[in-house]
Amino acid sequence: MSLKRDDKKLRLQGYIQAARDAGIKLTHQRLEIFRELASHGEHPDIEMIYKNVKERIPTISMDTVYRAFSMLERENVLNRVSFFSGRARFDLDTTPHHHFVCKVCGKVLDFHCADADRFKIPDEVLSWGKINQTYLELRGVCTDCI
Ligand SMILES: [Zn+2]
Ligand SMILES: [Zn+2]
Repeated sequence: MSLKRDDKKLRLQGYIQAARDAGIKLTHQRLEIFRELASHGEHPDIEMIYKNVKERIPTISMDTVYRAFSMLERENVLNRVSFFSGRARFDLDTTPHHHFVCKVCGKVLDFHCADADRFKIPDEVLSWGKINQTYLELRGVCTDCI
């Protein structure tokens, strides 16, 4: 499923559906995690979501949040953004796009690029397994940090 980041309601429905598809019970805690995530407009990290949900559900554990994220990742309604801040960051926009990552402040900016979208995966790489996601990651220093 591909969703644009502005479709918050659709996004929440997608997470709920993903939980059903994965055969996972939709608990109050999971629903609150999904709500928090769906209303997020950026590239959230787990700590951020955990902190916000904890304000409403003080008993929630970090482990519960981790497991909810992992399930959504497995169901392909969420992507993990790799970069070097050491904190797992996720991407709510599962439509094809690319990233600029600031190595100083950790900011992740999205961009679209038709040339990068046409990137042809070498046959050898295709034989290594199933590709779920392809994106270009440009790393540098943003204008705020220069
Ligand atoms: Zn920066
Ligand atoms: Zn992104």
